[in-house]
Amino acid sequence: MNHNTRIAIIGGGASGLMTAVLLARQGFSVTIIEQKDKIGKKLLTTGNGRCNISNRLAESRHYFSRTDNLMAYLLSEFPVTKALAFFESIGITVKELEKGKLYPYSLEAKSVVKAFLYELEYLGVPVLYQTKVTKLEKREKWLVKAEQKVEEAESKGVNEGRNPKTAKDGKKTSDKTKSLSLSFDQVILCSGGMSYAVSGSDGSGYELARKLGHTIIKPMPAIVQLVMNEKQFPYYKHLSGTKTEARVRLLDKTSKQIIRQEEEEFLFTSYGVSGPAVLLLSTNVAYAQANHQKLELSVNFFPEKTKEELAEFLLDKIEKVPHFTIEQIMEMMVPNRLIGVLLKLAQIESAKPAEEVRMPELKRLLDLLTDLRLEVVSAYQWQQAQVTAGGVSCLEVCPKTLESRKAKGLYLAGEVLDIDGDCGGFNLQWAWTSAMAVAKAICQ
Ligand SMILES: Cc1cc2nc3c(=O)[nH]c(=O)nc-3n(C[C@H](O)[C@H](O)[C@H](O)COP(=O)(O)OP(=O)(O)OC[C@H]3O[C@@H](n4cnc5c(N)ncnc54)[C@H](O)[C@@H]3O)c2cc1C
Repeated sequence: MNHNTRIAIIGGGASGLMTAVLLARQGFSVTIIEQKDKIGKKLLTTGNGRCNISNRLAESRHYFSRTDNLMAYLLSEFPVTKALAFFESIGITVKELEKGKLYPYSLEAKSVVKAFLYELEYLGVPVLYQTKVTKLEKREKWLVKAEQKVEEAESKGVNEGRNPKTAKDGKKTSDKTKSLSLSFDQVILCSGGMSYAVSGSDGSGYELARKLGHTIIKPMPAIVQLVMNEKQFPYYKHLSGTKTEARVRLLDKTSKQIIRQEEEEFLFTSYGVSGPAVLLLSTNVAYAQANHQKLELSVNFFPEKTKEELAEFLLDKIEKVPHFTIEQIMEMMVPNRLIGVLLKLAQIESAKPAEEVRMPELKRLLDLLTDLRLEVVSAYQWQQAQVTAGGVSCLEVCPKTLESRKAKGLYLAGEVLDIDGDCGGFNLQWAWTSAMAVAKAICQ
């Protein structure tokens, strides 16, 4: 029934691959256009190569948008269970690890990419590799303009002396490209964001959407380490690699208002801080800074105790082993490298016997243990960011179908839209949920 409807899917990443399978199964004539020599390049890197494919606890509160959090509605229509049923249909069973995180049974991202490849092959979906879409034009039909890398044999004569590159199928490609102009009935933009550009998501999708009249909310790196002010706290290099559980609050430095807080593992790096707690806060950092807010972190190394309880705990230790030095007592409480730094900041001599430590000194130490202030400089580089916050305004797509309100027959799915999720499988779930929404809309 649908064989005459030609659909271009721009981007062979998470959302593009799922949309392609769902539509091809319904008989649509689907073509994936992918600028890299492989599909699913970013998928391969997810979850440290294990692919944290979703999260059983996915709810709209784990998602952020500067324009409209479409996940609140879409997740009820296309929940995690539907995504998992899809994965079962391509041979992928998931297993749950900590905090609701779901992974393929093999714990290997490549099995997810392979399952997509096998299914696409079975369905006969063509993939135009090494083909970068450069322009979308809405005429009677959609005109998709692209630049495709030329195979060596084709470019012989004009490419002599160059070092050809090998494409996915073993064919050699040169740096030369040829221009394509392809006609489709519908177009689905699944071009991803801007993070980890080596995987192909280089932000060119934003430009395609912008030229069709869409507003692009300034893309920001999210789920990323933070660069901190080394002048205010000159110990990052010394502490690099030190990790501990902590409650980390992101504060507006001027108003002292809490922007967000997380209780997770916290890690010092040579230029700042990282670890799950920081990655969760990083999206808020990007946008607060765009708002010209000055930011700081407040780190509590003992979130399970009140300050009074911690004081009692410390005094009890001092009473039991008064002959230990304060440094020796601290060794039982916090990671080793942190001790010297905290004692220095509290102006307590490390070798001082615990019983000789004065109340004002103890108070300073307690303040640092429960509220170490660290000034934020910025989110770390794009290359390290896992996702992009910002993108095509969600106000410019139909919230149920994700069809563009600017150009009929154009749909958008995945990270290209202004929605990003927390770390922990939530971003891939957005890719699956949005892919299912678009596929259903086109099928109806
Ligand atoms: C290191 C890392 C680890 C991550 N781990 C996880 C995790 O464990 N769990 C999780 O939920 N999320 C994780 N993410 C985030 C997740 O990978 C992304 O949110 C998800 O892949 C987005 O899917 P997408 O389909 O929107 O875009 P992508 O998967 O980025 O795919 C976009 C595709 O479009 C192609 N493309 C772009 N522009 C063009 C163009 N002009 N022409 C042709 N092709 C084009 C690109 O080459 C690319 O293949 C991780 C991200 C990174 C970088």
